[in-house]
Amino acid sequence: MHIRFPFSRLAVAALLWLGALGPVSAQDLSALARPDPAASSIGAGPGGGIALRLDLSQPVPYRVYTLDGPPRLVADFREVDWNGTDPGALIDTDRVRAARAGAVRPGWSRLVLDLSGPQAVTTARMSRDPVSGRARLDVALTPTDAARFAAQSRAPEAALWGLPAAEPMAPPRRRQDGTRPLRVVLDPGHGGIDPGAEREGVREADLMLGFGRELAEGLIRAGFEVVLTRDGDFFVPLETRIDIARQAHADVFISLHADALTDGHATGSTVYTLSDTASDTASALLAERHDRDALLAGVDLSDQDDVIAGVLMDLARTESAPRADRLADAIVAGLKTHVGRLHKRPRLSAGFSVLKSPDIPSVLIELGFLSAQEDRENLTDPAWRAKAVAGIAEALSAWAIEDAAQADLLRR
Ligand SMILES: [Zn+2]
Repeated sequence: MHIRFPFSRLAVAALLWLGALGPVSAQDLSALARPDPAASSIGAGPGGGIALRLDLSQPVPYRVYTLDGPPRLVADFREVDWNGTDPGALIDTDRVRAARAGAVRPGWSRLVLDLSGPQAVTTARMSRDPVSGRARLDVALTPTDAARFAAQSRAPEAALWGLPAAEPMAPPRRRQDGTRPLRVVLDPGHGGIDPGAEREGVREADLMLGFGRELAEGLIRAGFEVVLTRDGDFFVPLETRIDIARQAHADVFISLHADALTDGHATGSTVYTLSDTASDTASALLAERHDRDALLAGVDLSDQDDVIAGVLMDLARTESAPRADRLADAIVAGLKTHVGRLHKRPRLSAGFSVLKSPDIPSVLIELGFLSAQEDRENLTDPAWRAKAVAGIAEALSAWAIEDAAQADLLRR
């Protein structure tokens, strides 16, 4: 996956990246990454451009931007130990005149390339080798004109230096390891001016608020800590739901829905995880409609998508995505045990924006379809809902144990 970001978003990108290192412990963060010059290069890229490749002993938060007068590419890292490495020796193109690197202030180090002409960053991507744990940063630049370069080149806000812990996103919680209660954020879908699906006088927003409260009670009884993204009939933008989960230091995020489908006769519960490509057309339409509903309610998702989804999230996702998958599998199993029949394909994926927290395993449960009479009867039946609560609670307990064991394996 490529990460593309306009310069106007760079400040945010850097902030998010710090937040995105959820699975990494504080101890890991204080460690220095070391570059391997033999596997790194500064060379010519396609179309008159430049290709920078940096091989590091481990992933670290970073940001990339350009500065003018003279034209430079700057890469800041938190933190790379440049002692004993001469980045100038990596240059293999006349498009870069010189390179230097070193500590720039406590906790930050910087690599600067002096460019022969104006070049714009087109992609910046850090990937991690799952086996060796080593990281590779690839930055691609392409020629641009002087006016555009001058307009785009500026240092990120000084406020980014020495980020205080609380702003604007709370630091992620250390991955749960079974030694403390799991904190579950429940997200009753829709609300307020966005009622969600409506059939036969039943509103999805009301139904999911009620179910969210019942599930919260059940989970608290089972020993979990629970936070609701809304506990009333009011509108909560999608990005706010993600923020709430973050501020609450959620271990897990579960969005609750009971949508209606316009065609086909779908019944039964479905559990969704996030993916770029939906597992089927109905799922794609569903995710699309969720986002559109939020748009109609006055939220600009173009911005949100860019911020939450677009940038620098790959590394955190490599860990949280399989955790979310296992959680979704567990919920399917738990629901099957307690409520019986599920949707014919109970495990699906689609691009739901509300699932885009990079480092919190997030799933979306379509508890049933308001468009199906049978599901409507189940959803409005307290006894059926109690079974669903039992199934989800059981699933979370099972997942928490398995997930803690996985975390333990990773640490070794
Ligand atoms: Zn919904």
